[in-house]
Formats: sequence, C-alpha cells, structure tokens
Amino acid sequence: MLKNDMLEQWDRESFFHPSTHLAQFARGEAPERVIAGGQGVFIEDRDGTRLLDAFAGLYCVNVGYGRTEIAEAIAEQARQLSYYHAYVGHGTEASITLAKMVMDRAPDHMSKVYFGLGGSDANETNIKLVWYYNNVLGRSEKKKIISRWRGYHGSGLMTGSLTGLAGFHNKFDLPLAPILHTEAPYYFRRPDLDMTEADFVAHCAAELEALIAREGADTIAAFIGEPVLGTGGIVPPPAGYWDAIQPILQKHDILLIVDEVVTGFGRLGEMFGSLKYGLKPDLITIAKGLTSAYAPLSGSIVSDRMWTVLEQGTDEFGPIGHGWTYSAHPIGAAAGVANLKLIDDLGLVRNAADTGGYFVTAMQTALSEHAHVGDIRGEGMLCAVELVEDKGSRTFYDPPGKVAGAVVAAMLKEGVIARAMPQGDIVGFAPPLCLTRDEADRVVDVTARAVASVLG
Ligand code: PLP
Repeated sequence: MLKNDMLEQWDRESFFHPSTHLAQFARGEAPERVIAGGQGVFIEDRDGTRLLDAFAGLYCVNVGYGRTEIAEAIAEQARQLSYYHAYVGHGTEASITLAKMVMDRAPDHMSKVYFGLGGSDANETNIKLVWYYNNVLGRSEKKKIISRWRGYHGSGLMTGSLTGLAGFHNKFDLPLAPILHTEAPYYFRRPDLDMTEADFVAHCAAELEALIAREGADTIAAFIGEPVLGTGGIVPPPAGYWDAIQPILQKHDILLIVDEVVTGFGRLGEMFGSLKYGLKPDLITIAKGLTSAYAPLSGSIVSDRMWTVLEQGTDEFGPIGHGWTYSAHPIGAAAGVANLKLIDDLGLVRNAADTGGYFVTAMQTALSEHAHVGDIRGEGMLCAVELVEDKGSRTFYDPPGKVAGAVVAAMLKEGVIARAMPQGDIVGFAPPLCLTRDEADRVVDVTARAVASVLG
C-alpha cells in the first residue's frame, strides 16, 4: 500500500493526464485513482482494492501483470547496458534477437522490422515510409492515405488524422489534408437495416471505389486499417470484408498498412490478424502486445516489396533520414524478447482463441435476450456489448455514451474494469490473454448485473 497522503493533491496540482476532463480533474470533481500493483488479471489500487482488469490496461498487458520473467529481463538489461542507440548499424543482443523473433512470427512476405516506442510513432513512421517509397518510384503525386471512420491509429498529428473518431479531431485542427476517410466495416451500424452482411460488404467496397475514383488513384498512396476495429467499437469485420477490399487496393496500386497494435501477438487467437484474415500487408504496425506494456516499444514491419524500394532509395539518396533516440531501446527490446517467449511458453495465443471464444459465447448467453442489448460481438480475446434504446428499430441512445458509462461504473463497484468505448454505448472487453474460464464467468456475471442495475 502507498502511504503518501499528498499523492492526490500532487496529482491534481501537477499531472496533465491524457484523455481526461482536465477542468473536472483539477477541481476534484472527476475521480482520481492510484494503481499500486498487479498480478495475473488483477490490479490493486493504493487502498488495497483488487480489480479484475478486463481491459488489460489499454488492451496491452497481454501476458498479465506481475510476470517476474519479464521484470528480471528488464533488470538484467538495465544492469548490463541500459541504453545504446540503433543509428548507423548499431544494435544490442536484445534488439537484434527481438527483430529475429518478430520476423519469425510475421507473415512470410515481410522483410524487416523498424522499432519505435508506441503505436502512434510507428504509424507516423509508416506514413513517412509510404511517402518515401512513392518518391523513390518517382510518383510524387501519390501521397493521400485512406483510413476508415472509427479507425484508431494514434494521437499524433498524422496518426490523429488517420484516427476516424471526432473526439480526437475536435479543436485540434485535424484531420490534416492528405488523409481521407471511408466507411467503417461496422455491420451493426449499417446505413440500411435491410442490408445483408454481403450487401454491406459490397456497400463498403463501393464507397472505397467511389472515393478512389473521386480523388484519382494516382493521388492515393495507402489504405490503413485494423484487422478488427478496436477503439472505434471492437468490431470484427463482416464476412468477406477484407476479401473485397484487398483486390481494390491491388487494382489501384495502393499500399496496405495493417495496424496490428491491438491484434498483434495473439489477441485474435492467431499470432497476427493479417494471418487470420489472409491479408497481404505492405506494412504492419505493432506495439502493445510486443512487450505486453512492460516497457514501451513499437514496430513497423516492412514487406519485401517495400524493402526493395527503400534499399534502392538509400543507394540513390543516402542513409534514410528517420530515427528516434529511443528506437529499439534495449530495455524495451529485452522486455519484448521475454514477453514473446512467455506467450509461446504459456500457450497464450491458443488460450485467446479458446477462452476468448468461451467468453464471448457466455456473454451472448447471459445478455442477448436483454431488451437494450443490441449486439454482442467478439473475436479471440476481444468482446463488446452494444446497448441501444430500442432493439427492434436499432435506435441508439442520444446523447451517446451515458448508458455505457453508467454500466462500466456499476461494474467497477463490483471489482471489474471494462471500458466504455467512444461514439456509442459500447461496453468493451480486452482481458489479458491468460484469462481463465472462471475469471471469464465472473466478468460475464458482473456485466449482466450491471446492465440489469442500470437498464432494468
Ligand atoms: N493503433 C491502434 C490500433 C491502437 O489501438 C493504438 C492505441 O490504442 C495506437 C495505434 C496508438 O498507440 P499508442 O497509444 O501506443 O501511441
């Protein structure tokens, strides 16, 4: 337990928290929480209250909390060599080993991995690589990037622009000009309730084709998407979605960036979402599950076809002018090596498929008859319960967010953390991949009781 009784005052006076109502927090009107420890799927706050974290932090603590194997790898690395940079051919045993481990797990046609710090900077790297690629090929007009509404790709200038959620644009003068948005693959929110899944996929494909035609294919460089929409609502794509989208991109010579920050390293019950959906990315973004958030580390995995052009570029123009001080930081890399080993040793990818499947089915059994539960969906260790005002007409609550917020607050009182997702009344779950069936049952029970307490 933490004893410092000044923490709350210091926090409210000094700490600028991300994604927080700043004024309410400073005035003491929004809750302040100090997390002190964690073990398995549980975290513990400063008062010793244990909470089952059914969102794995921010869907990142995939191996669960308190893994001494990773803590020891980090400590050993810090003792031996806390830092050296990765510029001009420098590496460490940890960073080189991790690169090899990532490439052994990535789809066969991928070539190399560039390491950054977080998902946002990895996507910034990706956009720069896409532009560099087209410049080397002499296609100076082919620069726009297509993202999807409700996609989440980060909070930077470019990545916040890629993100298709209003809360990340408002008052920040985003999105920036070279970013375009197209239809989200969100069948439950299809524009016409009579559409079948196949109709909706055809609609998404037609929207994409129309956007490309409007803008001109020779101005569009890349398309970015998460295999399963994450922050935009935890939405697996309708059947056949990626099979419809990929040929359009190929036809127009548009690169595919698959953002696997959430889905990479097992969350969908396969090592990568790209493998699950038969995707052939030119770039894959990785972060979160790469180290299970024991230390910050991200990566951009580059395909063979892009790599060839990047090499050609440096032959023509000299060393690539891109790097962060902390690229491939040895402590992050040591955490990554220990983490990927642990994922294998504990069989967590398989558990994400098995226990994740059990979890989603149990949620459906417990809640699908409820008058205000419109949709329960999931894939691997991801699940969402979408609440609606009227199920028959699929009328959403207005304004959105209050009902899911109340459900999540009621769950917290019962010791379970879920997340109210933005732009809707969506209760999201992304537990650590080591979740057991008993723990899944507890999350489902608490969710059902919370929904009943808020909505009857
Ligand atoms: N891409 C996806 C799919 C994400 O979910 C996130 C974060 O949640 C990011 C990118 C940005 O990662 P970070 O917050 O590490 O910058």
